[in-house]
Amino acid sequence: MAHLHDLTLKSFHAGLLRKDFSALEIARDFFDYIDLHDKKIHAYLSLLKDEAVKQASEVDVALAKEGELGFLAGAPLAIKDNMLIDGTQTTAASKILENYTAAYDAAVIGKLKAEKAVFLGKTNLDEFAMGSSTENSAYGATINPYDESRVPGGSSGGSAAAVAANMALAALGSDTGGSVRQPAAFCGVVGLKPTYGAVSRHGLIAMASSLDQIGPITKTVEDAAILFQAIRGKDEFDSTSVNNAYEDILEPPELEKIRKLKIGIPKEYFTNDLESGVAEAVEQAIRNFKSLKIEFKEVSLPHTKYALSVYYIIMPAEVSTNLARFDGIRYARLKEAEKAKNLLEIYLEQKSRGFGAESKRRILLGTFVLSAGYYDAYYGKAQRVRRLIKNDFDSAFKEVDVILAPTTPDAAFKLGEKTADPLQMYLSDIFTIPASLTGLPAISIPVKKYSLADRELPVGFQLIGRPFREKDILDLGQFYEKIGS
Ligand code: GLN
Repeated sequence: MAHLHDLTLKSFHAGLLRKDFSALEIARDFFDYIDLHDKKIHAYLSLLKDEAVKQASEVDVALAKEGELGFLAGAPLAIKDNMLIDGTQTTAASKILENYTAAYDAAVIGKLKAEKAVFLGKTNLDEFAMGSSTENSAYGATINPYDESRVPGGSSGGSAAAVAANMALAALGSDTGGSVRQPAAFCGVVGLKPTYGAVSRHGLIAMASSLDQIGPITKTVEDAAILFQAIRGKDEFDSTSVNNAYEDILEPPELEKIRKLKIGIPKEYFTNDLESGVAEAVEQAIRNFKSLKIEFKEVSLPHTKYALSVYYIIMPAEVSTNLARFDGIRYARLKEAEKAKNLLEIYLEQKSRGFGAESKRRILLGTFVLSAGYYDAYYGKAQRVRRLIKNDFDSAFKEVDVILAPTTPDAAFKLGEKTADPLQMYLSDIFTIPASLTGLPAISIPVKKYSLADRELPVGFQLIGRPFREKDILDLGQFYEKIGS
């Protein structure tokens, strides 16, 4: 089974076509490996063994018949449990949805099914994707594969841990304020948050609709490009999704073109908030890029300091409206709410027993900032400051093509270290939130051969691009991966 460690989406595809293995063999190997390791790590909430075996067998039949298949045919993927797969349990790691079975496929799942991908299972997350450590899951935390005493990050901690621990070839996560990039950084894998609108949100259980985006979590940047290529594009069920005239993102990047890209370093991201080991790691990544003769320039994003406050007004406002639908009438009803004698009792039983503490906190916060008398003071003002943050990026992108920044202020923290203090937890997203508020594409890439000296933990850096210029950050990332190898 050792070969699971070496496989990427790219090399799996090549191996499958060469008949080094069958899709079914690899799917079975993954399940064996998951059975061995996931009791400890707890990356998965549910496995889809029967369906996966069927999907993989169909791929083997199709390959024998056609001799050629797309990149993702047979590829064993893990899916964050806030995306719907028709006929399977989808919980968003909330007790409130423990009895819910998805009634249709999310748009991304439909696309991946058309590509004949194989779904191994649904991965753990913070309840409704709200958190930075996966400790807010109603079904127990996920563990960081690098260090059992630490968190994998969140909210897509299950997806990141599954890929890092070789329990999936690649995964999908969702990112509202950093939930693909931060766990990718904590687990030493690649995480791409596409431009807002690049990927349909249809069938993604909504957290904050003006921020949510689905993105790949993979072992390599090239794999992120492959998975992104498969899931992007306009979808009639998500009116914010668009078709952009992308160049072929799978076309291998050329060094000459890459050298024309100028990288900006935002001075506001390199402050005392940044742990010194992480700062050193990011400096190393910058030196690596400089060795490719890529030009750098300091830029300023002066409103960065307001991003976290703006996010914690806009996001809960949207959360409070989105989570109102889980009322015990629509979707699943909890056993405890079955005994209710009237509608109000159903609501009370369902919501008080079904939602965890963090969900309740955000529903309360969001209801407050939207309430009459406070709407302008909080929500309206936050929207205006969001615009100022966007203006900062617009001016920076007049001078540079891509922005390089740390993904997180620190490496993976200890389980339980931040659960008692929500503000400390929220601060983990200080560097990922600006790209979310502005809808910009951003990727977290592990700093090469770097782990914090005292802790053996991975560190990630982030490349942020212009709207719909995923190609720029993916190309730069692919070159970065090749340096010194
Ligand atoms: N950690 C952030 C939060 O708790 C981001 C979550 C996310 O991106 N889904 O809101």
